[in-house]
Amino acid sequence: MNHPLLTKMRAALLDCVSSRDHSHDFSFYRSELLLERVRLFAALFGLASPAWILVDRWLLPEDILGAMMGLRVVTGLVLLLLALVPVKPSLNSARLRITALVVVVMGFYVFVEVLTGGTYPSPGLIGYTILPVLLVGVLSLLPLTILESSAMLALVGLTVFGTHFSIASLGDLGVLGLFWVLVLFIGFALLAQIFQLRLLLLIHRQATRDALTGLFNRGALLRHAAHVLADCKKREVSYSVLMIDLDRFKLINDTYGHLAGDKVLRAVARVISGSLSPSYLPGRFGGEEFLLLMPDTELEAALEQAERLRASVEELVVKTDSGPLNITTSIGVAVGAPGDPLEEVVNKADQSLYSAKESGRNFVVS
Ligand code: GH3
Ligand code: MG
Ligand code: MG
Repeated sequence: MNHPLLTKMRAALLDCVSSRDHSHDFSFYRSELLLERVRLFAALFGLASPAWILVDRWLLPEDILGAMMGLRVVTGLVLLLLALVPVKPSLNSARLRITALVVVVMGFYVFVEVLTGGTYPSPGLIGYTILPVLLVGVLSLLPLTILESSAMLALVGLTVFGTHFSIASLGDLGVLGLFWVLVLFIGFALLAQIFQLRLLLLIHRQATRDALTGLFNRGALLRHAAHVLADCKKREVSYSVLMIDLDRFKLINDTYGHLAGDKVLRAVARVISGSLSPSYLPGRFGGEEFLLLMPDTELEAALEQAERLRASVEELVVKTDSGPLNITTSIGVAVGAPGDPLEEVVNKADQSLYSAKESGRNFVVS
């Protein structure tokens, strides 16, 4: 079953399940967001933990107050460290910090339940009993994939189960009630996380894709290019740039109208992105100009790729209301050594493009 709608739905579902198909750019953006939020929650819990000593003195028996105070101070300090120690944004560092928050808060919960022998029989201690539910609420405010959130939520659920198993309170009605509420909240949290992730993906896609052709827009192209170039520098390999400009495109607009022009642009974009190596980065640079960045590519391979594209565009027939249309393209090629700034290489490609236009168009020049 390869219906386009099914393919689209499958891709959307996979995007919610794991981050495997997310772009580098999106993952970086999401990890920054996750870290910002998890650090905020760590700070809030970190301040609340010692502040709650006042409530402990009011609600808890005298003999465990000293131990509770020590536990609250240590928990508060660790959480403040999680909030304050800076970290380089990456998905792994964000996941690690979220796990640390869950482990510390749940560790605190285990100690409280063991110290008090179970808070659930006393209605006045409901604030202690529902700590895991509160944590699930916090997790629901993070845009996590289903795999990431399942791991975190399972950690919370299993810790609550293990705690009550160890203090032999699993059969108690109050504990069963807690489990029921926890399961409901875990369901809501999963949905909330998926909704946030979907929204984030949608907004990010709209902000980074060109609406007409679906290729990366200029801003996103340059951001992605920075990562690609850094990788080329690290691996000490060259990269190539193609500047692709449609010939006499204004004439097409003037003769056949802008809608026909748009159709041509979409068709050419499909040709450009059609049969590329997955490591190549195509984008719409400007009006009728496209850029193709090819990491780990020397001049010879770049020229071959450019010639293939030029020939494919020449063969392209675009059906419009005013009949079939042909178009040609001129391509400027330039190669950058590892570490060469993109701007310089794009400028060189642009000069080559200018020469291609001078030589009568429908040419590849390096
Ligand atoms: P050359 O061979 O020298 O490149 O000539 P040209 O006509 O292609 O170049 P010029 O820069 O004079 O014109 C580019 C035209 O591209 C002008 C502009 O109206 C058109 N254009 C830019 N963006 C779009 C778009 O999104 N849709 C349509 N239909 N036209 C566009
Ligand atoms: Mg142009
Ligand atoms: Mg042009």
